[in-house]
Amino acid sequence: MSQNQALLHQEAHGLAPASRIKFFDVVLKSGKGAILTDADNRDYIDLLSSASSTNTGHAHPHVVHAIQEQAARLIQYTPAYFATEPEIELVKRLTALAPIAGPVKVAFGNSGSDANDAIIKFARAYTGRQNVVSFTGAYHGSTYGSITTSAVSLNMARKIGPLLPGVVKVPFPSHWDQLPHETEAEFCDRLFAAFKQPFETYLPADETALVEIEAIQGDGGFCKAPARYLDQVYNFCQKHGILFAVDEVNQGLGRSGTMWSIDHFPNVHPDLIAVGKSIASGLPLSAVLGRAPVIDALAAPGNVYTTAGNPVTTAAANATLDVITDEHLVERSARLGATAREFFLNLRKQYPFIGDVRIYGLNGGIDVVNPATKQPDAIAASMLITRLLELGVLMITVRGNVLRFQPPLVIPEQTLHRAFQIIETACADLQAGRI
Ligand code: PLP
Repeated sequence: MSQNQALLHQEAHGLAPASRIKFFDVVLKSGKGAILTDADNRDYIDLLSSASSTNTGHAHPHVVHAIQEQAARLIQYTPAYFATEPEIELVKRLTALAPIAGPVKVAFGNSGSDANDAIIKFARAYTGRQNVVSFTGAYHGSTYGSITTSAVSLNMARKIGPLLPGVVKVPFPSHWDQLPHETEAEFCDRLFAAFKQPFETYLPADETALVEIEAIQGDGGFCKAPARYLDQVYNFCQKHGILFAVDEVNQGLGRSGTMWSIDHFPNVHPDLIAVGKSIASGLPLSAVLGRAPVIDALAAPGNVYTTAGNPVTTAAANATLDVITDEHLVERSARLGATAREFFLNLRKQYPFIGDVRIYGLNGGIDVVNPATKQPDAIAASMLITRLLELGVLMITVRGNVLRFQPPLVIPEQTLHRAFQIIETACADLQAGRI
């Protein structure tokens, strides 16, 4: 029995099935940059970045140093009672970076999920209204509020209801819902009519607190909302005093080739955004950034967590922001993302089971389809990622058939091209029936 198998054998008895989405039987031992090593000392090129939570790569020396230094000085004192230096510095930096008009304030949390819960609280408190609108295909997290605004898996609703009251889902404009012969403008107008429909029948706009969206959905399949549609929804919110929030937990901090995914939409100015995952290079830290009066609407202890914004996580976040700036990770994501897009579009020309390609920065989804029907083919996608793992590339799927491409933004170009070669090999193997 290998070390890997022995550890997995032990784990099989104790871990809650609900807490792990299992793709592969791998136990990780270490990581450096874009390379992961497992318990049997096998290396993998990481094209997942721990679900977009390690944009700076694994064990970045500057981040490691900041964590070690801060841990030696003060690991924790609850930010609910006392400020610490790294927390104050991070608040300053995040308020300056926020894609939000006017004065901004920050509320820290421990996960993307609790940040999205907090957004519901802030919106309800500020507006005095209850209803919340989110989108089909959304993933906002696993706490009661954010699981309610999510809509990617029945297992997120099964057996745990009733979910949060007052949440309504409207259709996200996913590219595959555009009808043949429909222009993008017609598609947007049709989907905007569907967005407005609840407001015309059972959902009073003046009793609605919040619309929350992932401008580029991650788990929903890496679909970017068309600009015309997002402008329409944003303008509707403005007109009716509904707060507009963007979930940047997956797509923020350079991932989509801009600092924030909402930077792709220059006419939209969110009231609130949720940040998490990569903010502290994967340590448990999240933040809601919001217009100051909105954040001020909730009094303590309305959103207090003992460790939220703790010294080590905020020191890690300051170091992460240093790396993003010093290593030009936003520009890098845009530049290497363009290379990746070209690679996957060429791959589509060679292999009929590669369908739509959606790449925004070092980030995106590649559909695996049945060559004859062009319908999603989750089995072929699963065969591909299994072969990729054998060949030393770590990639997973979303929605069953969409390959998820999110390498660390620091990935060396040579390593990225090596990963592309391996992807070509795996595709050739699938085409030839060797897997
Ligand atoms: N929002 C988005 C867009 C996400 O992708 C995720 C996690 O995948 C979350 C929120 C939840 O974050 P966390 O798992 O840190 O609670």
